[in-house]
Amino acid sequence: MNQKARASAIRPTRVEDYAEWYQQVVRAADLAETSAVRGCMVIKPWGYAIWENMQRVLDRRFKETGHKNAYFPLFIPLSFLAKEAEHVEGFAKECAVVTHHRLVAGPDGGLIPDPKAQLEEPLIVRPTSETIIGASFAQWVKSYRDLPLLINQWANVVRWELRTRLFLRTTEFLWQEGHTAHATDTEAREETLRMLDVYTEFAEQTMAMPVIRGPKTPSERFPGAVDTYTIEAMMQDRKALQAGTSHFLGQKFAESSGIRFTDAAGQLNLAWTTSWGVSTRLVGALIMAHSDDDGLVLPPRIAPAHAVIWPVFRGDETREAILEAIHGIAAGVRAEHFGGRQIEVEVDLRDNSGGDKQWEWIKKGVPLRIEVGPRDLAAGTAMVTRRDLGAAGKESIPFADLPARIPVLLEQIQADMFARALAERDANTKAIDDRAEFDAFFTPQKPNKPEIHGGFALSHWCGSPTCESTIKDKLKVTIRCIPTYGIAGAKAAERINEAGKCIVCGEASAQRVVFAKSY
Ligand SMILES: [Zn+2]
Repeated sequence: MNQKARASAIRPTRVEDYAEWYQQVVRAADLAETSAVRGCMVIKPWGYAIWENMQRVLDRRFKETGHKNAYFPLFIPLSFLAKEAEHVEGFAKECAVVTHHRLVAGPDGGLIPDPKAQLEEPLIVRPTSETIIGASFAQWVKSYRDLPLLINQWANVVRWELRTRLFLRTTEFLWQEGHTAHATDTEAREETLRMLDVYTEFAEQTMAMPVIRGPKTPSERFPGAVDTYTIEAMMQDRKALQAGTSHFLGQKFAESSGIRFTDAAGQLNLAWTTSWGVSTRLVGALIMAHSDDDGLVLPPRIAPAHAVIWPVFRGDETREAILEAIHGIAAGVRAEHFGGRQIEVEVDLRDNSGGDKQWEWIKKGVPLRIEVGPRDLAAGTAMVTRRDLGAAGKESIPFADLPARIPVLLEQIQADMFARALAERDANTKAIDDRAEFDAFFTPQKPNKPEIHGGFALSHWCGSPTCESTIKDKLKVTIRCIPTYGIAGAKAAERINEAGKCIVCGEASAQRVVFAKSY
């Protein structure tokens, strides 16, 4: 946190009111805004560019792991959703339903749905697409030779939410959903974990956001899944955010959709399916994992622009020379690569004051700011400032060295951001075996004031849903996952596999699980 004795650009600060700080960072960076439709957001160009970068990196990984993109209908017949009992139960409470296909003038002059145009069967606006994609898979899969079937869809979905927050929870959101069908249980399980690996690698290497991964408890599973695996990240208020999930669906959806194939011996079998997804919620995670009291801080691999450059004019005599230098620097740096793409440099020639430009780009989170004024020009150097370090990150670099130096700085920022997030998570992850200590860990000390407290508690759980809900009801704390895969780099990770006694009932437990408050 910036300790300088000046007002921060974002008010309130994280410590003063984390929830409101988040909204103000979104606004100051011009990422998104609320819309005329309650619960639905408008994603503005800077926010959408971040999502496009996420899509680009993920889409490449999906294709490298053998998947192909396709597109399925926005509408799902009501009867399709109803085929899988647990699935419909899980989504019924948040479905948007289309019942008519025409409007007519109503008695008061306004428009109303035409009573004569009622649909024979209502349509659901997809909350997720297992059932509609399953219907296609049932047509496409005939023989074992058609398997595995590896499909991904980039789409929007609707889950009717009453309490919404930009990016984190909106009625309509953008996502990708992978859907695959396999000949065997083993292959489908391998696929589920392969995609969890892809998400883990994306979160840690591209978003610089360390995650803990493993299966969810039965009560937290995707409706209809046999197993749900998750990646969970710690935000700066020490709450967990579920950043991606991968589901092993067994044969349940294959059975309800009729996905059958003839095996090599001529026997008819049910396929094994998986589904997995991440959404625009990741943009919310990115904001909350890294930003500071001056606004957004973007990891270079996901930033819409890696650097911004602007001239600082003092009188007219050096104006042309400074502009020439700026364009030369931008061209030189743009010819270089970082993180698999060409370096993107914004040239800001607007007639705003240098101070205004500086604060605007700070709030937008651009990793590097480059300024050239008359004194720099005379010295043949540019002033380069790292967003993630504040004033401490200033460096004067000769023009000729910039093309080589910028990618090195970006790599350093990416690594430092991950290291800081990991250190922060480690500092707030604790093995707790005493119930009183556990309760105190999750109880604010100043009940009437916003307060950053708690973290990840690695504690024992016997496996009983009753013990799980006792903790949830009392403390609003849930089991985020059963971390079977260890935690990269975490000190507390060594204690995951210890045996012990359930934090609630004292029954035997073979390993620790991750308890936390969450988004
Ligand atoms: Zn128990």
